[in-house]
Amino acid sequence: MDQPRFVIEASEAESMAQSSGITLTQLLPSLVASAQTLARPPISKFPVAAVGVGSSGRIYVGVNLEFPGLPFHHTVHAEQFLVTNLSMNAETHLESFAVSAAPCGHCRQFLQEIRGAPDIKLLITSEKDPQFTPLSHFLTQRFGPHNLLHKGVPLLLEPHHNALSLLLNNDLPIIPNGISNGYSPNAELKFAALEAANNSHSPYSGSPSGVALLDSQGNIFKGSYMESAAYNPSLGPLQAALVAYVAGGGGDYDKVVAAVLVEKDGAVIRQEHTARLLLHSISPHCHFKVFLCYLLEKKFI
Ligand SMILES: [Zn+2]
Repeated sequence: MDQPRFVIEASEAESMAQSSGITLTQLLPSLVASAQTLARPPISKFPVAAVGVGSSGRIYVGVNLEFPGLPFHHTVHAEQFLVTNLSMNAETHLESFAVSAAPCGHCRQFLQEIRGAPDIKLLITSEKDPQFTPLSHFLTQRFGPHNLLHKGVPLLLEPHHNALSLLLNNDLPIIPNGISNGYSPNAELKFAALEAANNSHSPYSGSPSGVALLDSQGNIFKGSYMESAAYNPSLGPLQAALVAYVAGGGGDYDKVVAAVLVEKDGAVIRQEHTARLLLHSISPHCHFKVFLCYLLEKKFI
């Protein structure tokens, strides 16, 4: 592969493996080094890449993102990026992945949100004799969704339909005059953020949220809030949208000109203040607007 990419279609991945006489799983480690060049780690200067295959046969890449000037908890780890990439492409299972350095405890925990997590196989390319090994080997006594949720609750990569609807009284302009290069993205941005909130995985707090970003070219990128049973490894909706921005070919973060957050009215977990902080740091002139929503189904019960 000439240029590293964030998604490789199943047919292309299959032909890449076949031409080398290896399986799809064996192909993954060979893609890690080039994928590391996609990382954005200005603080650590330690690029990490995770390259995984989903049940569809598509290959996905994740890299680490760091944000100078902000506390470390804003950081996106490569494995979180990988899972977000799977999620935004409607991939329902991660079969195996290869990663450039041993997953930290935070990521071993975050991966527990995927059904069948103990059986996900991973290989660490920096080891002397790298072998695919089940995640259960790296986290032997797991705490996860099974400790807190009923069996029928959808897990992280499974379809979510949160039945959220926007409150009517917050229909205000996002961008002054609502115009950017003759195009009014306001409504589209708002509904993209609502769609992201409807796909959000927040079974522990019941506080779904989503973010949509608009860049100077008029492109929209969206991200859904994703919770972890252990709380701290959860990934914010703005981080998820930045994953979409980076994976979608976005350049410097200051090209993000507008952002919309949709979150639930009265939610126990709120994203507004932390999202505003991160946005102000990476794109100080970005317009930011928050819309509140409510649970459509319960509203009429
Ligand atoms: Zn990590």
